[in-house]
Amino acid sequence: MLIAVEGEDAHPAGSGVAAGSEAQRPRRPPSSALRRAREIAIGVDLGGTKIETVAVRAPSAEVIAQARGATPAEGGPQSVVAAIVDAVADVGAAAGAADHNLLGVGVGVPGQVDSKLGIVKGGSNVSGFGKPLELARLLEGAIAPRLGSAVALRVENDVRAAVLGELRLGTAGAFQSLLAIWLGTGVGGAVVCAGALHVGAGGAGEIGHLVVKPGGRRCTCGRRGCLEAYIGRACMEATARKRLAAGEQSALFELMRERGRDRLTAGIWQRAYKRHDQLARSLLRGGGRALGVAMASAQNLLDCEAILIGGGLGEKLPAGVLERARKEMGRHLLAPERAPLLVRTALGDLGGAIGAALLAVPAPSVA
Ligand SMILES: [Zn+2]
Repeated sequence: MLIAVEGEDAHPAGSGVAAGSEAQRPRRPPSSALRRAREIAIGVDLGGTKIETVAVRAPSAEVIAQARGATPAEGGPQSVVAAIVDAVADVGAAAGAADHNLLGVGVGVPGQVDSKLGIVKGGSNVSGFGKPLELARLLEGAIAPRLGSAVALRVENDVRAAVLGELRLGTAGAFQSLLAIWLGTGVGGAVVCAGALHVGAGGAGEIGHLVVKPGGRRCTCGRRGCLEAYIGRACMEATARKRLAAGEQSALFELMRERGRDRLTAGIWQRAYKRHDQLARSLLRGGGRALGVAMASAQNLLDCEAILIGGGLGEKLPAGVLERARKEMGRHLLAPERAPLLVRTALGDLGGAIGAALLAVPAPSVA
């Protein structure tokens, strides 16, 4: 797979080139050496609890520097922006990013994102991101002095950025139509039609708020019966606390304390499931069933070739829970003989940040 920046069609990124042997070569635009050198992209995956940042080398997306920090829980958008700027500056310095070799910076953010205007809204899992925020403008102004140059910056919905990475580098690129479901603190999603992301007016793909049970459990969005209320980590934890208070037994919160955590992470859910904790199993199985119902409804509407399951909880989802979801989906599919393939992500923990970095890398010129 080639990427335009390596070929003859790349956009000019500088002028002038060393003399000498260049004269004997086949004709080449004079700025090609500098274009070739512009190969580093920085990606940020902003989550509710952590900020993951990478620098990658195009076109392979090899990770050459990375950092992980906590998302500030207080101080509003200013402190989150400052934390992103620090992370980009640190990773950029570690990767040797400078004016002549930096393609740009991409940032994946939860919530509704207008990537053309760089405006983010509804990212309720990040402090101060509930109201519309001109994130691209704020970041551009603060990052440029730290990196010592103007920087091309793009913001995108975090799941769409991660899916972009999977499409370019993972197995998902084999499919022309795809539904991505990201299970984490909440539940996000993305739709790929004819090989391209479908963004609608900015909010397409929010499968987490597909209703699986009218009048059902309360969701973080304030409504009832959404998929996220059944298989989102924050909602599952809230339900677990209620059921414990009502007298059920579970080792979930002991595991949490043993691991020194203050919330039920995907790893804790996975561990409790393996240990046959009844409450964990009951909630994960119920979540798997709800996931199956949502997948079937979406599939009947979209008729995709595959469904890609990602996100922190998605990656650690026990095989038994995914199998339950697949079976439940089969019950509701109009064409069960053409059930979509269920596939897992290929890029792992850094996939969100790598996908964000690819926002700054020109699309492949050869598929
Ligand atoms: Zn909801």
